[in-house]
Amino acid sequence: MLNIERQKEQLKELLKIHYGYSSFRRGQESAIESVLKGQDTLVVLPTGGGKSLIYQLPALIFEGITLVISPLIALMKDQVDSLEKIGIPSTFINSSTSITETTKRLEEIRNGYYKIIYIAPERFYNKNFLESLSGLKVSLFAVDEAHCVSQWGHDFRPSYLRLREAIKFCGNPPCVALTATATPEVRDDIIKQLGLKNPERVVTGFSRPNLQFGVVKSSDSNKMEIISEAVKGFNGACGIVYVGTRSKADDLVNLLLDNGVEAVVYHAGMDTDSRHWVQEKFMSGGAQVVVATNAFGLGINKKDIRFVIHHDIPGTIEAYYQEAGRAGRDGEQSFCLLLYSPKDRFLREFFIKGDNPPANAILELYQVLLTEDDHQRSLGKESILVTYAELGKKISESLPEMAIGTALKILEREGYLSRPNEKTSNAFLKFKANFETLSGAIGKRAKKQIIILDKLEERFSEDLRKGWNFNPEEIANIIGEKKEGVQRLIKTLREADLAEYEPPFRGTEIRVLKRVAPEDLEINFRALREKLERAYEKLDEMENYVFGESCRSEFILKYFGDEDARPCGVCDNCLNPKRAEKNKSTDHRQREYLSSI
Ligand code: ADP
Ligand code: MG
Repeated sequence: MLNIERQKEQLKELLKIHYGYSSFRRGQESAIESVLKGQDTLVVLPTGGGKSLIYQLPALIFEGITLVISPLIALMKDQVDSLEKIGIPSTFINSSTSITETTKRLEEIRNGYYKIIYIAPERFYNKNFLESLSGLKVSLFAVDEAHCVSQWGHDFRPSYLRLREAIKFCGNPPCVALTATATPEVRDDIIKQLGLKNPERVVTGFSRPNLQFGVVKSSDSNKMEIISEAVKGFNGACGIVYVGTRSKADDLVNLLLDNGVEAVVYHAGMDTDSRHWVQEKFMSGGAQVVVATNAFGLGINKKDIRFVIHHDIPGTIEAYYQEAGRAGRDGEQSFCLLLYSPKDRFLREFFIKGDNPPANAILELYQVLLTEDDHQRSLGKESILVTYAELGKKISESLPEMAIGTALKILEREGYLSRPNEKTSNAFLKFKANFETLSGAIGKRAKKQIIILDKLEERFSEDLRKGWNFNPEEIANIIGEKKEGVQRLIKTLREADLAEYEPPFRGTEIRVLKRVAPEDLEINFRALREKLERAYEKLDEMENYVFGESCRSEFILKYFGDEDARPCGVCDNCLNPKRAEKNKSTDHRQREYLSSI
């Protein structure tokens, strides 16, 4: 007993010394105690609840090292830097770490330089890496974002299925699994997939009483106006608007800017530098609103976000609560508004289809790759260079390119192929005649094309006759013309058979690693089918949220298995006079009934 008290004191001291905090948050202390006892532990705490501390503090006390598995590769360096700053020696190993660097870090780990090591789950695909773990003294195996291990979750990552084996290679140390979003079935699945033994479960409430939820049903075309009005209504307070597609994000940010709102846009189509810049600008308060696709948000720790508006419904309640939950981290009243039009479902179904190619398409694609591989080998080449669009054309069912990408990913995951490189090449151009013949073919009215031809001749005459790799955009810049103009000229000359032209190529290199008859592919098609069915079920739940007439917050909390959830009193449904009336009348009827007996 005394010992436990002493340990509690010690923990508080460490919390104070290293982090400067004077007390634990809900769930932290009991989770840490369980971890220190060497007990497997499952922790479900909301985002921002302070899960990291649950493995970091014990790591300071344990003799051996703590391995932390996290899929958030982009955040590892920052996490390690901030741990170093508070005096906890740590490092990370992920795909950005070179082989030499990995070897060096493993050596340093063996020599006891570090207390905490962040590892990306993909590393465990590598047998050598797995074996290099076996000599380490691992005191704790921490699995962050543990819902990724479950196919029932909203963010399944196949590499997480390797963790069970990795735990064995480390000599079966105690394991702590942490997540913010897990329905009861996902929790059970985490325990099963990681092989946790008789785990202590620490689950604290998901309730966020300072969030006010609401849904607005509208036509698709009105949504942007509604959002623009709502944003104006927030009077300069900062917020996030989530949008389902990149092009809509671009449109909406323009509308907001036109309306005098300081808005910035963020999506995965932007380059890393621009994304950093936007994130910085939003975090530092230099922009009021960020309009973003769901690529935005990981590691966003801005506390005073007053509203999160969704232009389209997300695919799952998990995703919705995670994104909306970025509002109001400081505990102040904040708003979560979801717009819905019947069209939303189509967009979500498009994504679901892209994520879940049908079995026969995967088989057919594999067959296409085998044939293509034969062809390439007969030419002495070891890999196939192709675009998703070209592959798409070769299979009978018409599928979005995203589905082709997913099908390749599935074949890659099972070891049938690898994709060593994305390849890009320049365009190739060669003129087949002299200037007079070329300009004669262009026609009198296309003056612009003549001008461009003239400029090209002046600068690149020799190259053009020999044939030459070039980038249309760059060339247009050099001669001070628009890219489209250059392209139009090339088109005209090709049609007159006066130019040879190969467009620039953006494709993927594919190597076939295992050749079997397509019907012998070892792919768990049943699991894929179930994954598809679950995606639709989750989408249905999302729509149930939209059309539900009961308390929004209660709906979400019950979805996460909190049976004690009660109406929040502040969401649109709770405040809706009709609903309030209904409640009153039931109360009234109940009273009548009670008084009559
Ligand atoms: P989670 O992983 O659960 O989303 P984090 O571990 O990233 O949350 O913690 C979120 C923030 O809360 C961090 O800035 C962290 O330093 C802070 N924090 C964690 N525990 C405490 C505590 N006991 N008191 C005050 N702040 C805390
Ligand atoms: Mg975390």
